[in-house]
Amino acid sequence: MSDAEAFREQVAYLLERSAFYRDKLAGHDTGGGLAAIATLPLTTKQELRETVTPGNPFGAHLCAEPREIVRVYSTSGTTGDPSYIPLTASDLENWIETSARSYAASGVQPGERIVTTYNAGPFAAGAALAAFERIGLTHVPIGTGNTERLMRAIELLRPDAVVMTPSYAAYALEWAGHRGFDLAGSSVRRLLLAGEPGGGEPAFRAALEQGWGARVTEAMGIGDIGVSLWGECEHQDGMHLGGAGIVHPELIDPETGGALPMDDGARGELVLSHLRHRAAPLLRFRTRDHVEVRAKPCPCGRSGPRVRCIGRTDDMLIVRGVNVFPSAVREVVGAFAPQVSGQIAIRRRSPGVKQEPPLPVRVELARDVPEDPALAEAIGARVREALVVQADVELVPWGSLRRSEYKSKLIED
Ligand SMILES: [Zn+2]
Repeated sequence: MSDAEAFREQVAYLLERSAFYRDKLAGHDTGGGLAAIATLPLTTKQELRETVTPGNPFGAHLCAEPREIVRVYSTSGTTGDPSYIPLTASDLENWIETSARSYAASGVQPGERIVTTYNAGPFAAGAALAAFERIGLTHVPIGTGNTERLMRAIELLRPDAVVMTPSYAAYALEWAGHRGFDLAGSSVRRLLLAGEPGGGEPAFRAALEQGWGARVTEAMGIGDIGVSLWGECEHQDGMHLGGAGIVHPELIDPETGGALPMDDGARGELVLSHLRHRAAPLLRFRTRDHVEVRAKPCPCGRSGPRVRCIGRTDDMLIVRGVNVFPSAVREVVGAFAPQVSGQIAIRRRSPGVKQEPPLPVRVELARDVPEDPALAEAIGARVREALVVQADVELVPWGSLRRSEYKSKLIED
C-alpha cells in the first residue's frame, strides 16, 4: 500500500474511532489526501493532555479497544503528570521495525556486538532496545549510571558499538580520561547517539570521535509517534527517515504554523503524522523539534530528505525577539576547542522564555587552560555573529560545570 493510500485509510480510521479527531476535523475537507495534508489542522501535546480524564487516562484520541493494547509507555512529562502511550501489537511491531531501520543506518552489521546504556524502565526507549536484536546484533544492555560496569563491558566483551546519549558519551570520555582507560584503543568503532540534540554538533562530534576512536552517528524519534524514526548513515550528513511508510514528515514555520517545503537548508519545526497506527494515531503532530533539512542525494542511496535536530522548543529562549537554542550556543562555543571543554551553562535572568540581553553564558575552560579575557571576548563575538544574540561570557575553570550521565540541562535558573 502506498503512503497516499495508507493515509486515506488512517484518516478514515480516525474519523470512525477517534472522538478527538472527529471534533478537530469537523468542517475540514479530508478529501485531498496526503497531497493536501497541510490544509488539515495541527495537533499539539497540550491539546491531547487536555482530553485526559480519570475515565480515559490516554486521552480522547484513543482509538483501540482495551484488549487490543499490548503495551503502555509513559513519557516523563516535564510538567508533572506522565502521559501514557498505548500501543497495539502492530504498533509495537512498527516501532521496533522503524527503530531497527534507524539504528541500522549507522552501518552496524549483523553479528556485531552492541552495548546499550538506556535505563528504559517505563519509557518508550524500551521499544528501541528490541531493535538491536532485530538488526541481528548481540545486544548487551548495561543501563545508565554505572560507568564502571560500562567500561568493564567494553574491556571484557569487546563490543563493536555503544548506544548512548551525547551527554553520557562526553561524560564517559572524561571518566575514562581520569582513570587512564584507553577508550580510543578499545574495540568500539561506532557510537550511536540518541535521546537529546547534540550528537550532530561538529566540534562536539569531532571531540567524541577522537576520544572514543569511533565514528559518531545520531538517531532520533519522539515517544508520541515512534521511539526511533530517524537515523544517520555512515556519510554523517543528517538523519534518514527510518520510519518511511509508517510516518509522514512535514516542516512548518513554528511561529505561523504554515507549511514549509523540505528543501535543502530549510529550517523549521518537524511535524509528523502516523500512516498505519492503531492505538492512538496522531495527525500533524507538532514534535517541538527544530530541524535543518538536508535534501541533496546521499551517497548511501537512501532517498528522501534528512534532518539534523538544532534544538527543542522546550529549551528555547527568546532574547529580544531572537530565538536561541542552548544547544546552538554550545555548538558555537565548542568550536573554540581545545581551549574550552565543551560544557556550557546558560543562566536565565528572569523566569520564562523571554530574556533581556545580554544572555549570561558560563563557558568551561579545558583542563589546565588559564582564564583569558580575550578568549571570553572572542566567544561572545562569535555568538553574536552566529546567533544574533548578545552574550555575557564568563569563563570558569575545568570541572566547575555539572556533567550528566543522561541528558544535559544547559539552562540553569
Ligand atoms: Zn545516507
